[in-house]
Amino acid sequence: MRYLTIDEALNRGSGAVNLRGWVYRERKSNKFVFIVLRDESDIIQCVISKEKNPELFEEATKLTIESSVRLTGELKKDDRAPTGYEISPVSDLEVIQIADPFPITAEQSLELLYDNRHLWLRSRKLNAVLKVRHCVVGAIHEFFRSRGYYLFDAPIFQPIQSEGGATLFEVKYFEDDKIYLSQTWQLYAEAAIFSLGKIYNMGPTFRAEKSKSSRHLAEFWMAEMEAAWMKLDEVTEVAKDEVRFIIQEVLKHNRKEIEILQRDIDLLERYAKEEYPTIKYSEALDILANEYQMHVPWGKDLRTIEEGKIGEYFNVPVVVTHYPTKIMGFYKPPSEDKPEEALCFDMLAPEGYCEIIGGSERSLLVNDMIKRLEAEGEDPTKYEWYFDLRKYGSVPHSGYGLGVERVVSWICGLDNIKDAIAFPRTMTRKNP
Ligand code: ATP
Ligand code: MG
Repeated sequence: MRYLTIDEALNRGSGAVNLRGWVYRERKSNKFVFIVLRDESDIIQCVISKEKNPELFEEATKLTIESSVRLTGELKKDDRAPTGYEISPVSDLEVIQIADPFPITAEQSLELLYDNRHLWLRSRKLNAVLKVRHCVVGAIHEFFRSRGYYLFDAPIFQPIQSEGGATLFEVKYFEDDKIYLSQTWQLYAEAAIFSLGKIYNMGPTFRAEKSKSSRHLAEFWMAEMEAAWMKLDEVTEVAKDEVRFIIQEVLKHNRKEIEILQRDIDLLERYAKEEYPTIKYSEALDILANEYQMHVPWGKDLRTIEEGKIGEYFNVPVVVTHYPTKIMGFYKPPSEDKPEEALCFDMLAPEGYCEIIGGSERSLLVNDMIKRLEAEGEDPTKYEWYFDLRKYGSVPHSGYGLGVERVVSWICGLDNIKDAIAFPRTMTRKNP
C-alpha cells in the first residue's frame, strides 16, 4: 500500500488516496464523523458517513484528538473544507492508537504550552516555524559554501572567555578542574583562518543571560564567519548579502509556512531585495535625538528601545558601525583616526527585532588587548595562544555572528525567541 502525504494528495487533486496521520480536530453528528487529519505536510478534512459505512462510523466515533490513524478515501474538491479539499467518503479506516485526552486545548496559558512543549511541537505554528528554521539553516550553509568558505568546527568546552565573564556557563571538567561552554566560536576561528582563509560555522552557543527579555536564550545557535584579509567595510556587505539570501530562500521554499504564520509577505519581499544602509553609532545617536527626542549620551550602548527606533526609522535591516571602544569586547579594535570608536558593527532588524548580527574587525594590538582584558579582571596569560596569532604572519581579519533564533523569530514574526527553537532554554525554563 502506498501512502501519500497530505500535500502530495492535494497536488494530485482527485481520486482514491491512502493517508496516515493524527487527528487534528474532530466533530461528530448523527450522520457523520468529520476529522481533520494532520501529517507533517498539511491538514485535510475526512468525512465518515454512517449511512455509507456504519462500521467505520462506529469506529470513528471513538477517535480523540491526536489519535493516530491510517485511512483510504476519495479526494474531492470542496470549498467548505479547511484546505479546499476533503476525503469523502472515507472507505477504510485503521485506528493505530486512541490518544489519551490531549492536555493542550484551544485556550491555554503560555506556561502550560511550554510545559507540554514535547506535544506542542505538533501545532501548526511550531511545525511552520521549524520548517522555516530548516530553510534558514540550509540557506546559511549554502550561502557560505557557494562563496568558498570552509566549514570549521571549534571546541564547545573552552578554557577562556570571550564575551564577558558575566554570561559564562562554568562546568566541572573531570575531577577538580573547570571549563566553560562556548560563548562564541570566534577565538578558535581566528586561529583557523591562517590555514583555511575564509571559514564559517553554525553551532550551539551558551550564555547565562540573566535577563528575562523576549530576545535572549541561554542556549542558542550562532552562525559565525571569519575571513583573513577582510576589513570592516567588506564584512558588513557579506552580512547584508547573507541576510538577504536567507530571506530569498525562505520566500522560495516557505510560502505556505509564511501564510500559516500570517507573516506579511510583502515586507519579506522588500527585505529580500532592498539595500540595507550602513550608519555610524554617532549618526544613530543623532537620529534618536532629532527624530525621537531620545538623548543617548555618547559612550552608552544602545538599549533595545533605542535599537528598535533605529530599526523603525529605516524600516529595513540597518548596519550600525563604530560603537564606543570602551564598551566593546577586548578584541574589537580602536579605529586608527578615532581610537574612541571601534571597528565593529551590529545589524539591527526592523519591527522591534533589533540586533540580529554582531561583528567586527579583530584587534591586532596585543598590548591594547592585554590592558583591556586586565580591566575586565581576566588573566591575559591564558590568552597567549591567541596572541601568537598576531606574531606569526598577522593579517587584518574580520568576522561576525548571526543569531539563528533571532533571524527565525524576525522572519516568522514571533513574539518571543523561545518559539524559534524546539526546546528553549532560558534562566527560568529548562524543561522538558
Ligand atoms: P545582545 O546585546 O542582544 O545581547 P550581543 O551583543 O551579546 O547581543 P553578540 O555577542 O554580538 O551579541 O552575538 C552575536 C549574535 O548572537 C547577536 O547579534 C545575536 O543575534 C545572537 N545572540 C547573542 N546573544 C544571544 C542570546 N542570548 N540568545 C539568542 N541569540 C543571541
Ligand atoms: Mg548579549
